[in-house]
Amino acid sequence: MASLRILPLGGLGEIGMNCLALEQRGEVLVIDCGVAFDDRGLGVDVVHPDFEALSSYRPAGLFLTHGHEDHIGAIPYLLRRFDMPVFGPRYALGLLRARAEEHEVLRHADLREVTPGSVVRVGSFEIEPIRVTHSIADATALAIRTDAGLVVHTGDFKFDSAPPDGEMFDEARFEALAREGVRLLFSDSTNIDARGPTGDEEGVGRALETMIASATQAVVVSVFASNVHRLRMLGEIAKRCGRKIVAFGRSVGTHSRVARSTLRATGTNAGRPYLEWPADLIWPAERAPELPRRAILGVATGSQGEASAALARLARGDHPAFELSSGDLVVLSSRVIPGNETNVGRVLTDLLRRGIELRSWWSDRAVHVSGHAHREEQQRMIELARPRAFVPVHGTLHHLTRHAALARESGVPEVLVLENGDVGELDADTLRRSGSVPAGRVHVFAGRVVPSSVLAERSSLAERGALHVTVPVDAGGHIAGPVALSSRGVLDPTLDRDLVTQAHDEALAALAQLSQPGDDDIIEAVRRAVRRAFGRVLGFRPVTLVTVLRVAS
Ligand SMILES: [Zn+2]
Ligand SMILES: [Zn+2]
Repeated sequence: MASLRILPLGGLGEIGMNCLALEQRGEVLVIDCGVAFDDRGLGVDVVHPDFEALSSYRPAGLFLTHGHEDHIGAIPYLLRRFDMPVFGPRYALGLLRARAEEHEVLRHADLREVTPGSVVRVGSFEIEPIRVTHSIADATALAIRTDAGLVVHTGDFKFDSAPPDGEMFDEARFEALAREGVRLLFSDSTNIDARGPTGDEEGVGRALETMIASATQAVVVSVFASNVHRLRMLGEIAKRCGRKIVAFGRSVGTHSRVARSTLRATGTNAGRPYLEWPADLIWPAERAPELPRRAILGVATGSQGEASAALARLARGDHPAFELSSGDLVVLSSRVIPGNETNVGRVLTDLLRRGIELRSWWSDRAVHVSGHAHREEQQRMIELARPRAFVPVHGTLHHLTRHAALARESGVPEVLVLENGDVGELDADTLRRSGSVPAGRVHVFAGRVVPSSVLAERSSLAERGALHVTVPVDAGGHIAGPVALSSRGVLDPTLDRDLVTQAHDEALAALAQLSQPGDDDIIEAVRRAVRRAFGRVLGFRPVTLVTVLRVAS
């Protein structure tokens, strides 16, 4: 039997940027294509996978498991380079279409909707989406028939026994595939460290309703805007509590618009929109002050403490439409993604200083459940699919390693941990590591790629600041006027005149030693002298730029 090559381009060895390619007979099927974010403060909008490895093959198509940003955000960058059809659930494609204004390439993209139960041929692959439950509507796993046998990719999943949209996890289909024989399972590793039941969305709805029903003033709930289930429950709670939904923040607007205008393709509610918020339930944010405070149920973005998002602005008191006041209730219906603690802490402080009543995962565990299976449910997935081989996906190396150990404990005979760029090879008898392909992170700022050398420069500038020295030189190579030194982000030049004078004198002394110097000699001598002078006094050497100005003598 022929073999299948596994080419992970993102999401293996990190959280975010999920992108996995499968190759057989020289053609590749890409599964998901997401972005990650860079929080180093170096001016990076998004990070997407390096797609270079795909250029050696014929691209058959891209298949999406669901519409989260870490699965669809990098599609415009992929399609700019490779032309291929994009297959995905209706809701994911709806979110993608909503992005067409920002990315011209999406207007011409070949988007093909798929529904669970149907089988789609993509090149030599046969793919069947299977309904799973997750923190977004329309999430799927994929059963993929390959030359090496049946491969199952879970996508992102949890076992939610009562999903608010009534779309049940299709366990029966997994059982049927297990009977047929699953050669390889790729499974979501995110929550390998979390114990106990994952919890269901309805429980979150009940907890939120109790809090909102007893509130006497304005309530603002901060959520991940992509969690349609939660938006839907908040709409129902607003109706029952006699409040209007006020959307604060652009992404709540985008998600609710897509969810209200997209009709469901499957399930008992087929033909009805993903989100049913009647027009009279929604109140425009800019007119929020006209409502009595006790009629407001705000839904805000910014649960991770993002400084420019609605929640942080409401907390600081600089939201253009609405001001929170003492006695209002803010609920953070989310959990803090590791790395965002400082920013969230700042928002909590600002809210507390305004006298806001705060509820969060720290005070009330029931305000949030994860969209990703905890350890016990990951094990349940392994037992359900009964694969012969296992490759953990969607996690840092820590998550992948722990998930791999769980698979071994659960009796899976062949287990392999791969990171981005590692190639796996699967055939009827073996699963093994076989070489590597280019993989990495591509940083994008204002629509352009920022090379890593530029990021390194930005990092140096941020850490040490910059000096600029201009040296006027006549045709004979002699100094022909005052050497000018200016600085940015280094020191206060009005207070550190001595240092500036000293650096200036040392630069002149260095120049005096040169005979018949060319521009490069002058630049290098001045740069060294100035950096040395600053380094001696400050303990660090700023980035130093030298310009030689040729003047007529
Ligand atoms: Zn997801
Ligand atoms: Zn994900």
